Amino acid sequence: MFDPASKKLVGAVTVGMVAVGCGGGIILLDEPWSLQEVQLNTDDGIRVLVLHDMEGLSGQDDPLTFEFGSERYEEGQELLVGDVNAVIDGLYAGGATEVHVVDGHGSGNPEPDILTEKLDPRASQVLRDEPFDTYFDLVERGAYDAVAVVGMHAKTGSEGFASHTYTLGIDIILNDESITETELVALSWGRVGVPVIFASGDDKLAGDLRTMPWIEFVTVKEATSASTAIPRPLEEARADLRAGAQRAVENLADARVMRVTLPMKAAVRAVPPASLVHLEGFPGVHYRDNTVSFAVDDLWEAYDGIQAVIREARQGYRSILTERMRESEEFDSIIADYSARLFTRWLDVESGRWEAPPDEDEPAASGMYHGYR
Ligand SMILES: [Zn+2]
Repeated sequence: MFDPASKKLVGAVTVGMVAVGCGGGIILLDEPWSLQEVQLNTDDGIRVLVLHDMEGLSGQDDPLTFEFGSERYEEGQELLVGDVNAVIDGLYAGGATEVHVVDGHGSGNPEPDILTEKLDPRASQVLRDEPFDTYFDLVERGAYDAVAVVGMHAKTGSEGFASHTYTLGIDIILNDESITETELVALSWGRVGVPVIFASGDDKLAGDLRTMPWIEFVTVKEATSASTAIPRPLEEARADLRAGAQRAVENLADARVMRVTLPMKAAVRAVPPASLVHLEGFPGVHYRDNTVSFAVDDLWEAYDGIQAVIREARQGYRSILTERMRESEEFDSIIADYSARLFTRWLDVESGRWEAPPDEDEPAASGMYHGYR
């Protein structure tokens, strides 16, 4: 059985090899990653990337605040820019000379989740003219000296506010260690020697991140369930965000770079509403207990594979659609239409009467991309 709570302690701060008793003998297990000292190169200033999510904000206790299209989303946007600005202010106070901000949330809003007009004018947003992956595509040697993550959430199964990993019902496991997205960011940037120095979120994320004891972590609320939280007084939390970010830059030399151990194993475990059970028995797929695992040479390959498995795991979401349809009085007639259409499609394709509709990839309204959408 997979038990993230107990495994965390193993991966905590030890570096190198761990000896574990196994039957009568001792086997050596590689650590999932190693922690290395930062090679400081700040003669040309200190450039910091702020990556924000939207579930670990201060003053926030309602999931509607991070859901684009809901009546409380705009409130969430105000909370987001408030937290990000507090962190930017602290980073500059600590000695940062350049701060960039990138959206890691992906609410579905075609515009950035962050209110651009209220963003601290000293910081600039990362914008690209084609879609990019926030966690992997910005990683470049020399681009930044440090990364700060703001408004993050605990991982799937952590009982945090809106706890999840990457998307609903997914647990990402690297080298047998269940990770948070914050660790994924740290490992991604670790490939080019850049540390994550700051994070904010709820008390459950603080627990998840015992693996990263050097980061300045600011607990902005106590999660009482995935949909409820007790936020700290807003001004107090914001003051801590600012002070923590300042200390994070001041203590940059003490931060640690997280480098994944290679070659590596990756796995995706699905819990409802996601599911991987349909992959059981699939040739070439290593499936067990709603988990698909595979071996890869590097983190990029792992991430590619993880995304492919996640696309499969999301097939499980359809059970919710079926659940909803069953409640409809039209359910029987929809199923009858579906059967008829399936039959017609088969005959049309075989008769050469059917053409696949063109792929419609919607371009961004502004022509610019700011991160996850
Ligand atoms: Zn998010």
